[in-house]
Amino acid sequence: MENIAYYNGRISSIEEMMIPMNERSSYFGDGVYDAMFTVERVPLQLDDHLRRFYRSAKRIEIEVLMPFDELRAMVLDFCRRVDSPDQMVYVQATRGVGMRGHAYRFAGGTPSLWVWVKPDVLDPMDRDYRCITMEDTRYLHCDIKTLNLLPSVIYTQRAEEAGCDETILHRGERVTECAHSNVHILRDGALKTAPCDNLILPGITRAHRIAQCREMGIPVIEEPFTVQEMMEADEVFFTSASALCCRIREIDGRSVAWAEALSEVEALKAAVSR
Ligand code: PLP
Repeated sequence: MENIAYYNGRISSIEEMMIPMNERSSYFGDGVYDAMFTVERVPLQLDDHLRRFYRSAKRIEIEVLMPFDELRAMVLDFCRRVDSPDQMVYVQATRGVGMRGHAYRFAGGTPSLWVWVKPDVLDPMDRDYRCITMEDTRYLHCDIKTLNLLPSVIYTQRAEEAGCDETILHRGERVTECAHSNVHILRDGALKTAPCDNLILPGITRAHRIAQCREMGIPVIEEPFTVQEMMEADEVFFTSASALCCRIREIDGRSVAWAEALSEVEALKAAVSR
């Protein structure tokens, strides 16, 4: 089949799935999600993404009603059933269905579980990327992967309008992350990346690139860095489940200097592809 969706026990195509009007996700974005990509129908870092999914849900007091192993098995089954071997896997838990009201102890409400798998591909690593910067005006719980994505939608729209691929966010001078990825710099052979506090999402891909750097003997500094440091870095790259290791060549129309022969990002990309 072309794609497949699950919602609270029902299974259909994504296009045919019907969701009740009173889903709290549509009124309040009252839920959390996670997303990953497959290579040959194998979801990359599936367990890490599912563990973060259950953690995010717990942080906002939503119980994922399906046990971890059952959800994992369903995801793998869906990946086998979708025709394309290159897929995006999406899981979402919401506060459920109930007459609109901000407080969530509404009578009878049980959390909803959404899962879908559709054809999609990873962002290519064999090209360079262009970014814009914008002030990070999101709230202070960016470490929870919630559905409240309006700022990210606007940041991504602005990047597209500028003919760019991603928006790098900063709070004042401090670079936080991107609209939907983490951003990292390399300076004098060391990786510098924002620490996992409440201002960034602890990216699964970020964690894997950090581990890879350590294996390759590249020192890792998890400390805040500034916009100026980024503009003067040897290399800048972003990571996410869909962009495993994407080098940034231009920021706000200015090229970011990097030396091809010494490129740590090239070495990381080569290691990712193996
Ligand atoms: N930061 C934000 C705001 C994101 O939305 C994402 C991914 O969706 C990431 C970082 C990267 O996280 P991951 O590597 O787990 O996909």
